[in-house]
Amino acid sequence: MSTTANRFSSLLHLVRLHFGVSAAVLIEPDGPLACDGIDQQRAARTLVSGTPQPIARCPIADGGGELLLFDDQPREVDQQALAEFASLASELFTRRREVLGMREWLRVLREKEQRLALAVAGSGTGIWDRDVVNGLIHYSPGWKSLLGYADDEIGTRIEDAYVRVHADDLEYVRRTMLDHFESRSDQYKVEHRLRHKDGHFIWVSSRGRVVERDDQGRPLRMIGTTTDITEMKRMGERLEQNLELLTELTNEIPGMVFQYMGRPDGSGSYRYISAGSLDVYGLSPEQLKLPNGRERILALVHPDDLPAYQNSLETSALALTPWQMEYRVLIPGRPTGWRQGNAHPKRLADGSVLWHGFITDITEQKRIEVELQALATTDFLTQLPNRRHFMARLEEELARLQRAPGRGAVLLMCDLDHFKVINDRWGHGVGDDALRHFAALLAGQMRRVDLAGRMGGEEFAVLLNDADHASALVFAQRLQQQMLETPLRHQGEVIPLTVSIGITTLDAGDANAEAALSRSDLALYRAKAEGRNRIEMH
Ligand code: GH3
Ligand code: MG
Ligand code: MG
Repeated sequence: MSTTANRFSSLLHLVRLHFGVSAAVLIEPDGPLACDGIDQQRAARTLVSGTPQPIARCPIADGGGELLLFDDQPREVDQQALAEFASLASELFTRRREVLGMREWLRVLREKEQRLALAVAGSGTGIWDRDVVNGLIHYSPGWKSLLGYADDEIGTRIEDAYVRVHADDLEYVRRTMLDHFESRSDQYKVEHRLRHKDGHFIWVSSRGRVVERDDQGRPLRMIGTTTDITEMKRMGERLEQNLELLTELTNEIPGMVFQYMGRPDGSGSYRYISAGSLDVYGLSPEQLKLPNGRERILALVHPDDLPAYQNSLETSALALTPWQMEYRVLIPGRPTGWRQGNAHPKRLADGSVLWHGFITDITEQKRIEVELQALATTDFLTQLPNRRHFMARLEEELARLQRAPGRGAVLLMCDLDHFKVINDRWGHGVGDDALRHFAALLAGQMRRVDLAGRMGGEEFAVLLNDADHASALVFAQRLQQQMLETPLRHQGEVIPLTVSIGITTLDAGDANAEAALSRSDLALYRAKAEGRNRIEMH
């Protein structure tokens, strides 16, 4: 600005000397810009009051200003020369406008640059600019501060740059850079460690691109960024450690812990499987995580349990209710096993369902359950169903009969004759043998559809399905015949064993099983009363 102002003053000085006047003034529309032979304040006053009048004036093109000459006496001046000076002033005006415009442009540019620098500094990213030919590299202040350096603390030699790279990463960094220099990659992108000013290493992500190459494609200039990713790396490591911990813990849990993703299109896959899968399914986690993992498990589920298995999963997915299911598995080379599945479904935004759960081996549990069931329903001495179980089955049979009255069933009540005598004469052990002997003969007579039970002491009941009085009579007679032909012996002695039998048909009109039972009891009572070793019908 000052240089242009000086030029205006010099011009006016020349004008005054050339025309030999007392003062020369250059005005702009809003007042005097430069004066010679008069000070600026006086010139302003003169302009406002209009006295003294200038002896000559000439407008200046473009600017809207004027060149004025003042002298003691009015006189003629060379207008041609005045116009030439005015055009010079006009040129100066133009220059001044250009300079002002440039200044404004520079100011805006500087502001923009500052904003960018602030943004870059705040992002933990630094910028570098590499002059490949001369082996120089320029770093932004933000880059230097990433490594804890002040702006003047880092040189520009490329060799120094490599000294800061961690020795273990150096080879990889160089190779990646070379790949890009030789155009084998369209971008340079590496993660590596850089030494901080205070000695420790930070992890950075470095990206860049050659922006100028020579005619042969050799790199001339490359620009890139460096971002501190130490915290990100640390977080990644922590996540990895957590995952490791989780994996180790779940691997210790008996059974298989899993995460399963079921997609809206019906496909699905295991996202996580603990080591227990080897015990549970005979397959490794790696095998199950393959796309066909689900199919491999479906192939192991017992065909009889498969529909229920699939239904339960579908229901869980639709209603988002916990999945629980007991099912059998057929694993090659192993006996049939029982598994229990438990999982919680969670619906994801895209409609998929994510299950977290575990599968346990309940084979042993099931075996004990079956044993307990047998224990609760079987008479220990004879291995026949006990009274409670027999009565329950009788109730079922009655209900079946009531639903389909066409089919008949007959109930036989058997009581060993004078059993007390056996106990008394041969002892309780022989009495037990006799009970087992009778139970075996009875079982030998029965068809699959028949059922016998020990009702207590030396009393046995038999239910013959699809039978009538006549066939029941045949059955009873054959039983007595068998007892005769196959007697129980003890120390060479035949143990005399006969049975009295009362028969009744199961009637659809019976209120309950007890009703039928008491009818057979009545018949049995008659058989006893009539002399024992007899068969009586009700
Ligand atoms: P009846 O011809 O009138 O049926 O005469 P009984 O002696 O068979 O009938 P009673 O009901 O008087 O006697 C049944 C006997 O059966 C009495 C009991 O000691 C015996 N008994 C009951 N349960 C067992 C058992 O589990 N083992 C043995 N050894 N004896 C039993
Ligand atoms: Mg009895
Ligand atoms: Mg008896």
